[in-house]
Amino acid sequence: MTETSTGIYLDGEWRVATDGAAFEVVNPADGTVLARLSDAGHPEAAQAIAAAATAQPAWGRTPVAVRTTVLRTLHGALLARAEEFADLIAAESGKTLADARGEVAYGAQFLAWFADQATQLLHGEHYTDPTGAVRILTQHRPVGPSLLITPWNFPLAMITRKLGPALAAGCTTVIKPAAQTPLTAIRLMELLTDLDLPAGVVNLLSSDRPAEISAAVFASPALRKVSFTGSTRVGTSLLRAGAERVVNASMELGGDAPLIVFDDADEDCLDQVMTAKLRNGGQSCIAANRILVQDSAAEGFIDSLARRFRALTVGDGRAEGTDVGPLIDDAAVAGVAGLVDEAVAAGARIAARAPVPEGHGSFYPPTVLVDVPGECAITREEIFGPVACITRFKDEDEAVSLANSTDSGLASYVFTADLARALRVGSALDFGIVGVNRGFISTAAAPFGGLKTSGLGREGGLHGLEEYVETQYLSLPVDATA
Ligand code: NAD
Repeated sequence: MTETSTGIYLDGEWRVATDGAAFEVVNPADGTVLARLSDAGHPEAAQAIAAAATAQPAWGRTPVAVRTTVLRTLHGALLARAEEFADLIAAESGKTLADARGEVAYGAQFLAWFADQATQLLHGEHYTDPTGAVRILTQHRPVGPSLLITPWNFPLAMITRKLGPALAAGCTTVIKPAAQTPLTAIRLMELLTDLDLPAGVVNLLSSDRPAEISAAVFASPALRKVSFTGSTRVGTSLLRAGAERVVNASMELGGDAPLIVFDDADEDCLDQVMTAKLRNGGQSCIAANRILVQDSAAEGFIDSLARRFRALTVGDGRAEGTDVGPLIDDAAVAGVAGLVDEAVAAGARIAARAPVPEGHGSFYPPTVLVDVPGECAITREEIFGPVACITRFKDEDEAVSLANSTDSGLASYVFTADLARALRVGSALDFGIVGVNRGFISTAAAPFGGLKTSGLGREGGLHGLEEYVETQYLSLPVDATA
């Protein structure tokens, strides 16, 4: 067990929970306890939002140049410790070191990207209305104290994707990482404490009592923004909590990504399909959830995918040569097993399965599932595991109709050699993101976000900063002396 900071950072100091509660962080590859942390509850959450509120006016007035220097320094500090962060991410989330290294690079991107984007804040508008009677001046203001709640599947990048624009915009923050993966957040907080930020600008609440934390923070009139990444169920409960006082919300919620393979797709598309399905062991909101293959190409595609799945090495994500790590915990394994077992009982066929290690560890075998009856839950629920569920389609219309038959609308993928078809199908898909002949679509430079129940707002890209900014309009007489 590693000794770490307490996990609670409030108003410029590491603290412990007043009621003495604690929780353990476990390595899902072998069940070992990585740390025992103080478990923040109601009092700490109330203090955190109060500290953020106190720090808000001065941080909001801090020059953009100073705020972006903080982000650039943090970016450098993070990259200087990239391997340390990758190892920590792999240990607490179970993902492979390759995926963890990719996450560190991706997570760091948001700090540099939003330091650059912050120049937008220097610009306002100045124009007159059509009558010529009003001089209109616009300027940016930070939204205000922000609650940032993140999931366990990207313990670093989901924080920097929110913290980067929040700090750039001049918002103070309360970060609530997932209870399964707070160690990466704590290490990031340690780097932030080295930067001598004013007390209260960034507060961290490691906690295994998420509902208590959000209740305390939402009870404060100081809260002006919630940015949440996680399940649609929790996201909608937070929207309800914020409705009464019209708390600004950004929501990155669950997905049900279709991946469409047309019969003219390049053979190399399998590499991309493997990435879209298996990054993070399939535990990603943009993971290919339903693989739709054109009839005429289906047999060959299934054979090739099955061969690749059988050859996968499942094991501790930190071991060399591991392709797929464990799921986050035993409950996740039971969830995936339940979906697959129901489909098999209804007549689905397992076309391939990779072996899993014996002993402790939350492993589920990478599986290719075909001929799944349409009524099975796996055809409409987020699998969040290494299971490729394949459905056949006849033509373009059927592919689009199957793909769009979901309440979710986050990511989707199209594989075809015909660019006109890619554009036509891409435009017809009701999804916020369409990967065209690409299985890896994450970059800080792109606007990431979903339609329908997959969320509200965009993170990253040219618009990610706007989520933390209000526009104020000053109405002036044209004759300034009037
Ligand atoms: P989750 O909703 O259970 O938890 C996410 C976060 O919310 C965690 O920090 C958790 O502690 C917290 N939480 C849980 N209950 C809460 C409550 N009542 N009040 C406040 N906070 C609460 O989701 P998860 O299982 O950790 O993550 C998986 C889900 O996240 C999937 O649905 C996945 O698609 C989604 N996800 C979406 C994106 C995206 O960008 N759209 C990215 C990653 C994950």
